[in-house]
Amino acid sequence: MGALVFDNSYARLPEAFFARVAPAAPRAPELVVFNAALARSLGLDPASLSDAQAAAWFSGAEPPPGAEPISQAYAGHQFGGFTMLGDGRASLLGEVVAPDGRRFDIQLKGSGRTPFSRGGDGKAALGPMLREFLVSEAMHALGIATTRSLAVVTTGEGVARERVLPGAVLTRVAASHLRVGTFQYAAALRDRAALVALVDHAIGRHAPEAARADNPALALFDRVMAAQIALVAEWMRVGFIHGVMNTDNMAISGETIDYGPCAFLDDYHPLAVFSSIDEHGRYAFANQPRIAAWNLARFVESLLPLIADDAETAVALAQTRIDAFEPRFRARWIAMMRGKLGLLTQDAEDGALADDLLVWMADQGADYTNTFRALADGEAQGGVFETPAARAWLARWTARRAREGRAGEQAATMRAHNPLVVPRNHLVEAALRAASEEGDLTPFNRLLGALARPYDVREGLDPFRAPPRPEERVHATFCGT
Ligand code: AMP
Ligand code: MG
Repeated sequence: MGALVFDNSYARLPEAFFARVAPAAPRAPELVVFNAALARSLGLDPASLSDAQAAAWFSGAEPPPGAEPISQAYAGHQFGGFTMLGDGRASLLGEVVAPDGRRFDIQLKGSGRTPFSRGGDGKAALGPMLREFLVSEAMHALGIATTRSLAVVTTGEGVARERVLPGAVLTRVAASHLRVGTFQYAAALRDRAALVALVDHAIGRHAPEAARADNPALALFDRVMAAQIALVAEWMRVGFIHGVMNTDNMAISGETIDYGPCAFLDDYHPLAVFSSIDEHGRYAFANQPRIAAWNLARFVESLLPLIADDAETAVALAQTRIDAFEPRFRARWIAMMRGKLGLLTQDAEDGALADDLLVWMADQGADYTNTFRALADGEAQGGVFETPAARAWLARWTARRAREGRAGEQAATMRAHNPLVVPRNHLVEAALRAASEEGDLTPFNRLLGALARPYDVREGLDPFRAPPRPEERVHATFCGT
């Protein structure tokens, strides 16, 4: 173990897919957080790396040996409207092949202007970069597919937002940064060879078995759809609201990507929205499956020329896939809820049992995380559990579990599917405020520590489990710019 081993396959795609641009060299880079465990899994020995060297590598001041910085081109539907985009403030250093053979993109976010910056300054502020670090690592610990965070480095420069804020660069590690929007971009080029090159690249990275399928493009799509169904069901398991599920923020790897205005449910409501820019609730909690299906329809549209030579045939094949989304998601969601409810077998009424639980939880404004964990821990009494609707539901659930008669396994299943701690919005905000405004990373590191083992019962978790007091509640989250 020692250094990062780069092999930059995306940079070998046709030139239209990227711009070769070096990251900006910040004035006084300083390492703020470093993920030593992740570094090790990439083959980088943290002990062999000084803080100053890490700050230089992961700020853009001096890209690591083997890096070949580029900014990626992509398009996207943002809140339903189509735009040509691209990395306006990110630099893909390249792909690292880890000791276990897996390939990861290493990307700097907040690394300066690029040909895709449009009106933006290419920069990022410390608070939003720490937010992505914290929430992505929490998602990973929750067992949910996500991009990871290797480092946050402050730049020593201010970034002008509503106020001047400390600037920072985040190093993001991802299975890839291929987005639905990357394929929309390729389709918009109207260059069949470019689309073929991108699809081959994507198949090589994420769906090698699709290369041998009768219809490789459709096989790639099937794989991506399955990954998105699994991902969104997992988001719903932990009460995660992505907040900005634009097609450029949906990775075909099935990893959660782009932690901008994301949030976690405190009290359950299906239409919960936190993002300050989501005026119409397009990306509300319970709307996420529908939006995933909508984004996948944009993905399959981009692939149409490769699905069949005849346009009508291609559309018909694509449509069968999109039509299958809803029933497949529902089946996956019910399976996920069985985990939360400790149901080990399948019963035709399980979907209704889960639906009815959520109805009374919404009526009661029941805390999503704590209500499920109380069910898991046999503490479903008092408070929200005392209404007639809740009691009637508890009686049904108890009878359902009794029919299985495997109480020990049921309880273990529930404890594995219902976290004790999630990154509650008010705690995240408080930790970022302390870091960004007072330079105090203590609350950030404490929260990061609690979130590293979200299912383990241990001392000292109470402050991380309490729902916000009314004055602590976060009502809106803001885009990570
Ligand atoms: P996001 O909402 O973070 O997914 O970003 C949407 C688009 O805006 C992407 O093309 C970003 O690269 C671009 N963008 C976001 N912030 C900035 C910035 N400060 N400067 C330039 N481009 C940006
Ligand atoms: Mg984005």
